[in-house]
Amino acid sequence: MAQTTGISWTNATWNPTVGCSKVSTGCRECYAEDLHETRLNGVHGYPVFKPWTTANAEHNVTLMPHKLRVPLTWRKPRMVFVNSMSDLFHEQISGVYIAKVFATMMVARRHTFQVLTKRPERMAAMLGDEFREIVFRRAWEMCEELDLTLTYVWPLPNVWLGVSIENRQWVGRADVLRQTPAAVRFISAEPLLGDLTDQTLCPPGSGAGCWDCGQRGMVRGPDALDLTGIDWLILGGESGSGHRPLDVQWMRDLRDAARATTIGDERPDCALFVKQLGGARPGTALEDLPEDLRIREFPR
Ligand code: SF4
Repeated sequence: MAQTTGISWTNATWNPTVGCSKVSTGCRECYAEDLHETRLNGVHGYPVFKPWTTANAEHNVTLMPHKLRVPLTWRKPRMVFVNSMSDLFHEQISGVYIAKVFATMMVARRHTFQVLTKRPERMAAMLGDEFREIVFRRAWEMCEELDLTLTYVWPLPNVWLGVSIENRQWVGRADVLRQTPAAVRFISAEPLLGDLTDQTLCPPGSGAGCWDCGQRGMVRGPDALDLTGIDWLILGGESGSGHRPLDVQWMRDLRDAARATTIGDERPDCALFVKQLGGARPGTALEDLPEDLRIREFPR
């Protein structure tokens, strides 16, 4: 069964794993942590240890091998968000299992898969020649079994790889993404918690650390977000009862940065998708956005 979704930049979700642990401030209000508890615990019998700390990850991160081939059963082409309830590159998920997920994506080439991570270093380190060979072998075995033909192309043309960036502390994730082989690279700036384009200096760290990037002892903040080589930028404010405030100007600055990737009169290299403003229950329709931010493009 396809898992329908309210996420406006995709058509379906596919969770070959569930569970995760928090790695940065953008994880604080993680919706998957709450859903994990309310939907899965007791319903499907998966273990749930709150909060989603590193120490609890070995209990919370659960492989779902019975879901590995689900996309092969969907006849119509879909845009599929992979692991909306987890992070595919979590340390608890073995490279062999991740290769099985990639093998399914290789065989189910009628679909477009969107893989979003906050662990780009592990993703970049993993997606080398050895991993590719394992993926090809698994996919070939699957095609033999199902009497399907296989097309060998790497990076997989129907797999988009993305990173989440919530404030300037994490703009380096985009640099790692640029070094990762991918047909399409994207950034999800959601929840957007700070200005990613401001290059002013952080105040010298003392006690609590910089209000914007969160680091201590710094006299210079991280660089502004570099959109070179990035095909798609998603913007969204934080939602839910514990949401942190959004300054709409942060979105406008990022919109302008994405528009500045235009070469000549061509369409900008970096497509833009504005999902929602922040708030307890932000409207997700296009009309809920300020007129100048009603932009919902997809990569070329
Ligand atoms: S990485 Fe994603 S799924 Fe994991 S805790 Fe953070 S927000 Fe939640």
